[in-house]
Amino acid sequence: MKVAVIGAGIVGLATAHALADEGHVVTVIDREGPAAGTSRGNAGMIAHTDIEPIASPKMLRQVPRFLMDPLGPLTIRKEYLLPILPWLTRLILASRPSEIEKSITALTAIQSLAMPSWDRLSRQLGIESMIHRRGCLFLFDDRSLMQSMKHHFELQEKAGVSVHLLDASEVRQMEPGLTDRFVGAAFFPDSAHVSDPRAITLALYEAARARSIDHLKAEITSIETEPTIRLNAKDQDAVNVDAVVIAAGAWSKELAASVGDRIPLDTERGYNITFPGATRLLNRPVSFQGHGFVSSPLDIGLRIGGAVELGGLHLPPNHERTKAMYQKAGRFFRDLPAFEDGTIWMGFRPSIPDSLPVIGYSTKSRRVVHAFGHGHYGLTQSAATGRLVADLIAERAPAIDLTRFSPQRF
Ligand SMILES: Cc1cc2nc3c(=O)[nH]c(=O)nc-3n(C[C@H](O)[C@H](O)[C@H](O)COP(=O)(O)OP(=O)(O)OC[C@H]3O[C@@H](n4cnc5c(N)ncnc54)[C@H](O)[C@@H]3O)c2cc1C
Repeated sequence: MKVAVIGAGIVGLATAHALADEGHVVTVIDREGPAAGTSRGNAGMIAHTDIEPIASPKMLRQVPRFLMDPLGPLTIRKEYLLPILPWLTRLILASRPSEIEKSITALTAIQSLAMPSWDRLSRQLGIESMIHRRGCLFLFDDRSLMQSMKHHFELQEKAGVSVHLLDASEVRQMEPGLTDRFVGAAFFPDSAHVSDPRAITLALYEAARARSIDHLKAEITSIETEPTIRLNAKDQDAVNVDAVVIAAGAWSKELAASVGDRIPLDTERGYNITFPGATRLLNRPVSFQGHGFVSSPLDIGLRIGGAVELGGLHLPPNHERTKAMYQKAGRFFRDLPAFEDGTIWMGFRPSIPDSLPVIGYSTKSRRVVHAFGHGHYGLTQSAATGRLVADLIAERAPAIDLTRFSPQRF
């Protein structure tokens, strides 16, 4: 079959490989080029050990405290308060105990495919050395917060995730580059991270080119399904294919609407700063619990970032947030480079209120498959998503139950 994938981010490219594995003739279409979107600058964590949705009672409890601080872990840009209200309402509804149980089950299912799928893809493409397996640490500077997370860790263990609780001296031994303020940590030995999110996305692109997956630079504006699949493009000819996958990350909403699916996709904007060459300050990614940001020792340098800003796709970035995170990080690292030595970035997480991606057939045609909305876990779940999409295109039963990922669930 002739299949187009819209979006050359990590999800689109992993999907292109999975489709080429099945013998399809694949074209990846991107309006800019590979790694132009959010896959370029994320924190690089293959965080398959996380199984609790962002929309959770725990998160809701923290919201009032977060919102008090305009540069804190969560902010809503005042210009975007009205447009984001329906999404926020859905997020609150998705945090109800009856819903959260189902979301955890679904998230656990896709996360359980994540690492095996990355293992398979990285072996196939010969890029195993771009994936580092040194685990990750959830760090606590507040004993009561660590205590309150016990239930969460038990849930993870029940789902088969290894968790080791560490005391302050064990944290110091593992991460001597950090200050002494941490009272303990949870260590996830099976978590992994990549050398550099941009480099691994480009590696997938180069490997795709090498195996004759085509690339077309075009902005797709809408999709027609009758009589055949036709992709309308801005200022250039339409593209005719047998099937298409929408993997345009945070920009997928209008494309999905053109095939009959009104998806509550919005963006959680995230910020970071990367210090080139600072590769020895950490041994593994760490998450500063209660502060809403993480730090990763990438091969290209130390990256510090995270935070959630609800501000849509068009407002300019507010890098005061990056500065605020940097200042906080200054209390956590013994020896951080100067802010001016870092490279700042903002990216658009493609987020669905229930923290689950949209993977499934469109309403108008089974020849249009949605693969977007991975929120905080797009890098983690990309290889798994590729395999699931290949199952759908082949009309096979997918490896996991996709009911909770359905585009029609809203
Ligand atoms: C600060 C931050 C840290 C993060 N950390 C992590 C992490 O540690 N681990 C993790 O798993 N995830 C992380 N994420 C999330 C992850 O980066 C995203 O979920 C993931 O990159 C989404 O990938 P994607 O391929 O769906 O989208 P993108 O990478 O955004 O790609 C979409 C592509 O579609 C193209 N496109 C859009 N519209 C059109 C159109 N109409 N026609 C043609 N092309 C189009 C764009 O040009 C773009 O190249 C983080 C995100 C942020 C912001």
